[in-house]
Amino acid sequence: MTPPTTPFSSAAACARAVKAREISARELATLTLDRVAASDECLGAYLRIDGDGALARCDAIDAEIAAGGDPGPLAGVPVALKDILVTEGLETTAGSRILAGWIPPYDGTAVARLREAGAIILGKLNMDEFAMGSSNENSAFKVCRNPWDTTRVPGGSSGGSAAAVAAGLCAASLGTDTGGSIRQPAAFCGIVGLKPTYGRVSRYGVIAFASSLDQVGPMTRTVEDAALLLEVIAGFDPRDATTVEAPVPRYRDALDGGVRGLKIGLPKEFFSADGIDPEVAAAVSGAADALREAGAILTEISLPHTDLALPAYYLVAPAEASSNLARYDGVRYGLRQAAAGASLLDLYKETRGTGFGPEVKRRIMLGTFALRAGYYDAYYGKAQKVRTLIKGDFDAAFGEVDVILSPTTPTAAFAIGEKTARPIDMYLADIFTLSANLAGIPGMSVPCGLTREGLPVGVQLLGRPLDEATLLQVAASVERDAGMSARRPPEVQS
Ligand code: GLN
Repeated sequence: MTPPTTPFSSAAACARAVKAREISARELATLTLDRVAASDECLGAYLRIDGDGALARCDAIDAEIAAGGDPGPLAGVPVALKDILVTEGLETTAGSRILAGWIPPYDGTAVARLREAGAIILGKLNMDEFAMGSSNENSAFKVCRNPWDTTRVPGGSSGGSAAAVAAGLCAASLGTDTGGSIRQPAAFCGIVGLKPTYGRVSRYGVIAFASSLDQVGPMTRTVEDAALLLEVIAGFDPRDATTVEAPVPRYRDALDGGVRGLKIGLPKEFFSADGIDPEVAAAVSGAADALREAGAILTEISLPHTDLALPAYYLVAPAEASSNLARYDGVRYGLRQAAAGASLLDLYKETRGTGFGPEVKRRIMLGTFALRAGYYDAYYGKAQKVRTLIKGDFDAAFGEVDVILSPTTPTAAFAIGEKTARPIDMYLADIFTLSANLAGIPGMSVPCGLTREGLPVGVQLLGRPLDEATLLQVAASVERDAGMSARRPPEVQS
């Protein structure tokens, strides 16, 4: 077993060790920050490190423990966050130059809940600009590499989160998932990623991409950590009217439930998709076989509107994005320039030219096109109808099965630069993840094996609305069988 004091121990193990005073929060944060200093120049996972802020918080946690207090379930756990989550006093850019220099005056709800639970925020992580992408190559700031093979992408858009967790540069992270951005990078980097039900976690203080699809969720090394973080961040928030008022279960209680008698559906449309790599298919089938041996009942199911998910997503998401991004007019954000004494005109000139990268511009144009007068019914309206059909497919399937199992991605991590010239190829990386966002249901990616080249493969589990507990229960079984949480990427030194 990994000793709790290595940067590779789980968030749960870190909190236990800090509370038991086997290590101080300060020592643990320092150890992790040293590791970031040694390897992140190569990986490019961090956009910003807040060493001073982190250590000050550690001292408060250590003092509370010394005084006999309990700082919470994440006491002293070193976390780092996708830079789309708004952090008080710590620059937040969503991977975009248009927000460079913006220091938010408040914490988003998920961030505030992590802090209240005792977590230490080490810094902010690289991502595709405004979460648009599947490879992290749309970051306006720098390349992020996959720790398992640094010539490959970590996935996206939460690529920095996946790379940092996989490489032991933080114990856990939060990402956001609009069409797969938690699950796809989790699969590429061999970690656990959980996209909760729409409305399970507050979006207050999450920079909006497509508001009807966006969800915040945990990216962790273990299934237990995913359960633990979800317990902390989930729940009703008066500041986000789309949050659900349902009570938050103690998700960790689900982990030892086993899978005996659970019904798991294998959607035939996902397994027969074009372009699915045979090694990915083999690893996912291996996970399915192991679940059957553990007592689950596996059946083939059909989700007949699967091939409409991609076109519907690429109307709905850009339409919402074009509206959400209208606020970045080059005047309201970007306080660094303003503070340096630039005039509003200078500021405007500076951000207009360099403000948005090509993918963001492409999405705004697509969205504006889809919403323009006279075309709304033909595009956006039609996409919303397709969305209802996709939701209907899932409702029917969950009448027969408890959980749906598929590959998370058609292939393992691809090479940096491989898909940048062809946006549609890039969009296909999310072919298996998009429909869960359109339907609002929870989804998870759990590592289930390695390809011959040593690249991680993820299995996707989809569940009924608000039934994250059953997903975690099945995920725990996959994790026990695949033994991937003990596998480490090669050491990366800058
Ligand atoms: N890759 C998809 C996109 O580019 C999904 C991104 C996401 O989930 N944020 O829109």
